[in-house]
Amino acid sequence: MTIDHILNLKCTICGAEYQPDEVAYVCPHHGNEGILDVRYDYDAIATRITPETLRHNPDPTIWRYKPLLPVRADSPVPPLSVGGTPLYHTPELAASLGLRHLWVKDDGRQPTASYKDRASAIAVVKAREIGAEVITTASTGNAAAALSGLCASVGQKNVIFVPESAPQAKIAQLLTFGSTVMLVQGTYDDAFDLCMLAADEYGWYNRNTGFNPYMSEGKKTAGFEICEQLAWDAPDRIFVSVGDGCIIGGIHKGLRDLFALGWIDRMPKLMGVQAAGSDFLYQAWRTGEDVLTKPPIAAHTVADSISAGLPRDRIKAMRAVTETEGAFICVSDAEILQAIPDLARGSGVFAEPAGAAAFAGLVSAVRDGLVSPDERIVVLNTGNGLKDVSSAMKAVEAIGTWAHHVAPNLESLREIMGAM
Ligand SMILES: *Cc1c(COP(=O)(O)O)cnc(C)c1O
Ligand SMILES: [Zn+2]
Repeated sequence: MTIDHILNLKCTICGAEYQPDEVAYVCPHHGNEGILDVRYDYDAIATRITPETLRHNPDPTIWRYKPLLPVRADSPVPPLSVGGTPLYHTPELAASLGLRHLWVKDDGRQPTASYKDRASAIAVVKAREIGAEVITTASTGNAAAALSGLCASVGQKNVIFVPESAPQAKIAQLLTFGSTVMLVQGTYDDAFDLCMLAADEYGWYNRNTGFNPYMSEGKKTAGFEICEQLAWDAPDRIFVSVGDGCIIGGIHKGLRDLFALGWIDRMPKLMGVQAAGSDFLYQAWRTGEDVLTKPPIAAHTVADSISAGLPRDRIKAMRAVTETEGAFICVSDAEILQAIPDLARGSGVFAEPAGAAAFAGLVSAVRDGLVSPDERIVVLNTGNGLKDVSSAMKAVEAIGTWAHHVAPNLESLREIMGAM
């Protein structure tokens, strides 16, 4: 059952190393906090996959990188097409910000319409490797929808915990895919705590972010894709919105893999964007506070997917930013809403608030002189705008965009056109 390209799992707090079958999820010395980093034997991996073999691999999904993922070579993978999302070159949007090289990576194009499919795909494979009967997760909505859809594709039972305030579209996805859905009367943080207790009580496979070490491994795959799509010429900066911090930590991991393999020759700076009402990591980064002892904050933001009072993957997220000499950026809800139509009009990519937040972070960074015009910049859209239509409507109303109501005759149309 061993996976021979995994060296060990290393605790991000104390550095203790474990074989994958020695621990269930976390380092036993720190309660639920001891998140592990999956470490690989890159010499072994380099004999199985190279930029050259990738060039001839027609599989566009995350499984094209299977020798770099923490799964057995012969493990079956779910049929949904996860990964392989487009990286759009957006010269007009770049010019509007005084930049020369800007790309938008659109993970709103995943099967359940968010970045979380990358992690949930790995969760389903890992759970089936050990024959788990039920998988569970807590989520602000997207991780849940991702797990729900991926499970539906292989007939895997699952139980989901989301705050009852989650947007309707996300709850509709869960119910449609046939998950058992618990709408928790509380915040995401409350849903997380209840899900952890439930997993323990019932022995369910636990997909939770910042706890299950393999979720970062799924989330690293966009780092691979961005670099491969840029012909292994790594960008200077990647803007990523941050809630729990698993995406930014995962992308950091993917880039570290590529750097260790010698496929890229420098590390992009990772720019973590938080909402002003949910800025635990931004605060800790600015003040130098230890993320392990900093108490939770009360989180409120229109960007529900990055609303996290206690970011569960905060250790990896902080390292992603500090080790790459990036920055955390904090944007207001108004800036996030403004970014939805700005990104959509400049690139054709319709993002939910948390996805647009990454673009709002770029706008803010340009304004503050954090980026120079020649840098090659990638903005990651993490979720589709159709996930939260009511926020999109708020966003266009805020900038004074209205539809015209017209009677079905040319006369009425002329009247409106004339008044414009
Ligand atoms: C989950 C999510 C994020 C943030 O990811 P974390 O790993 O929690 O930092 C950002 N955008 C969207 C759309 C998400 O669903
Ligand atoms: Zn430890």
